Amino acid sequence: MDLKKYITIVPDWPKEGIIFKDITTLMDNGDAYRYATDQIVEYAKEKEIDLVVGPEARGFIIGCPVAYALGVGFAPVRKEGKLPRETIKVQYGLEYGSDVLTIHKDAIKPGQRVLITDDLLATGGTIEATIQLVEELGGVVAGIAFLIELEELNGKDKLKGYDVLTLMTF
Ligand code: IMP
Repeated sequence: MDLKKYITIVPDWPKEGIIFKDITTLMDNGDAYRYATDQIVEYAKEKEIDLVVGPEARGFIIGCPVAYALGVGFAPVRKEGKLPRETIKVQYGLEYGSDVLTIHKDAIKPGQRVLITDDLLATGGTIEATIQLVEELGGVVAGIAFLIELEELNGKDKLKGYDVLTLMTF
């Protein structure tokens, strides 16, 4: 299946000069959403995954059906102040300024094999921060899966040494 035809290109959103890749037109098509999910599940099957971890909010959309299919749990990575119990946090750089991501301290047991999911790899900052959280809790990043990679932003450079799957490149 040609997944790219389900992605809608939105020029100048959220601001001028950004060419946004809208995945909602993939998600709201049952065949395309299932096909994309199945590709990630197949990739993950050989990796003996214990847990799927994804950053809010689109990392949940990709990761939760994969976790369900694998029969493993899902742990959310969220912006600061959203998780109710004890967390660890990491600060990461954005184009302007910085942001903080958090995960519950007991979300991962040391040695657990983790699949990280998100919709899109741009500069790689979000996923680099997510990796840091997983590893700080003793998790092993066994794979990282995205629907989309924006090649010209070179996010893969930040993921050297990790096993990465991307279903589409733009
Ligand atoms: P990065 O941290 O620069 O790699 O940015 C990746 C994050 O920004 C992901 O969590 C995406 O959800 C979001 N993002 C950046 N650009 C786009 C886009 O064109 N479409 C959808 N999400 C995007």
